[in-house]
Amino acid sequence: MPRQITVELKCRYCGESLSDESHLVDGNPGIKLKVTTGNASSVVWLSSIFGSNNLESELQFAKGEIVEFACPHCSAPQSTGKKCDVCGAPVALFKLTDGGKVRVCCRSGCKNIWLDL
Ligand SMILES: [Zn+2]
Ligand SMILES: [Zn+2]
Repeated sequence: MPRQITVELKCRYCGESLSDESHLVDGNPGIKLKVTTGNASSVVWLSSIFGSNNLESELQFAKGEIVEFACPHCSAPQSTGKKCDVCGAPVALFKLTDGGKVRVCCRSGCKNIWLDL
């Protein structure tokens, strides 16, 4: 069984860690983000295991819906001007605490993710 790669992300604006030790997803600290979809906003915890699609939120995401992620500390939107090369939705960019970046497609159900080390 391949070793699971966990990622620890931080906001690229305020530099605060997005890991939430008090909320586990897949047995690891979840990646906490503010999430906005349509006219609803809430909080989402993403799995820190790279490649895992597990997440927890009070909101239900319709497949194909585009969501916006923001930092829970400084509220800066994490999306970029870049577009997903699969579906054309905006792409969010996060810094890894040990260097490198992760880009994630903001369309629910797209699952397109890039790791730039
Ligand atoms: Zn921030
Ligand atoms: Zn996409």
